[in-house]
Amino acid sequence: MKASLEQIVSLAKRRGFVYPGSEIYGGLAGTFDYGPLGVALKKNIENLWWRTFVDTRDDMYGIDAAILMNPKAWEASGHVAGFSDPLVECANCKKRFRADHLEDAGTCPACGKQGTLGEPRQFNMMFATKAGASEGESATVYLRPETAGGMFVNFKNVVDSFHPKLPFGLAQIGKAFRNEIAPREFLFRVRELEQMEVEYFVRPEAWEEAFEAWRTGMLAFAKELGLPEASVHELEVAAEDRAHYSKRTIDFEFDYPFGRKELWGLAYRTDFDLSAHQAGSGQKLEYIDEASGEKFLPHVIEPSFGVGRTMLAVLMSAFKEDELGGEARAYLALSPKVAPIKAMVSPLLKNKPELVEKAKEVRKFLQKVHPAIAWDDNGNIGKRYRRQDEIGTPFCITVDFDTLGEKPELKDTVTLRHRDTGEQERLSIEEAAERIRASLA
Ligand code: ATP
Repeated sequence: MKASLEQIVSLAKRRGFVYPGSEIYGGLAGTFDYGPLGVALKKNIENLWWRTFVDTRDDMYGIDAAILMNPKAWEASGHVAGFSDPLVECANCKKRFRADHLEDAGTCPACGKQGTLGEPRQFNMMFATKAGASEGESATVYLRPETAGGMFVNFKNVVDSFHPKLPFGLAQIGKAFRNEIAPREFLFRVRELEQMEVEYFVRPEAWEEAFEAWRTGMLAFAKELGLPEASVHELEVAAEDRAHYSKRTIDFEFDYPFGRKELWGLAYRTDFDLSAHQAGSGQKLEYIDEASGEKFLPHVIEPSFGVGRTMLAVLMSAFKEDELGGEARAYLALSPKVAPIKAMVSPLLKNKPELVEKAKEVRKFLQKVHPAIAWDDNGNIGKRYRRQDEIGTPFCITVDFDTLGEKPELKDTVTLRHRDTGEQERLSIEEAAERIRASLA
């Protein structure tokens, strides 16, 4: 059975993954706050992405650009003039909607009245603010609506510092802001979001090969995150639906409970961005081939991943309900690589100091493999297991009297319980460490 959005929202709040933003003040639409387990899950997703697409490759360069940029950059890129969605307002209830998301353009989805929705007008989604201490001197600046801009403006810097050979890419993870007309569906459509993006620069004639490599790379990453192949779909975006500068776009869609919707995007952007920033800044952004002396603007392949949409897809895919030992349970079958906690260590009884001391020792030992090893000595063992199942901890390790040597042949062994099956094995502390290490490799 597939999880409903309500089940995920409720689990996320109850167990400290994601809370509504500014909740004690009644919230702020389109914002969410990540709690302790959500931070860990998000960081693990981001770290896996960075390791996959940056650290383990020789052709990728990391960037962490400022969120506030010179507004001329957004004029050059076309965002000031055109980063907009069509907005309609209902004359009766005054609610606003995205015209292209309406199921029936003749009926207001909020009040149900017919014929009250006005003509669509373009609504720019960039958040504007003021930079500078006094109102008079201050200039309008924008919170970036995507991380891409920060990479294009640093293209020349990276080329000058590192002299990379084509093809090569810049990568960035960071916040972006979009004043969405109708934020909704939990982390799916928010106003403050996080993106993981790459601008991959290629010789113009080599774009197809690079596009294909990124397409398969993105599918492989979906698999590594634990998204079922059957839930991820490629949508070849038709020419009339593509941005004017894009010669090819694939939307990777995921089967969310509210429909099949865009998870990530992959676009061939030609030399649109470098050429626009070259014209806007007056700076030469051409790449010079050191061997031939040839000068040209590289073309760009852009894989773009939303962190929140990824996390929601990961949670949806991992949520499972079954029956274990005659009792119903809900658990998250998260890949150990992204699970917030890698294992939990527990003394069989919390009022036996020898057990507690030994269990602490075991935990310390396992933390050499990974620091995210939790401690739980509350309630009975069964309850502890269920708590960890619900947050997706792959292993629970219990220290009992045999660990202390009550049966001499079992001295320094522990029980290791597997989350998905509930099965337990008796193994040495070193073997338990090895199980955790192997699960993260
Ligand atoms: P949509 O059509 O759903 O509004 P988009 O095509 O505008 O999305 P892009 O501009 O391609 O999205 O942004 C790249 C990625 O950033 C998306 O694939 C998605 O993962 C993420 N993203 C974009 N807008 C949002 C948002 N409002 N909330 C959460 N994630 C977002």
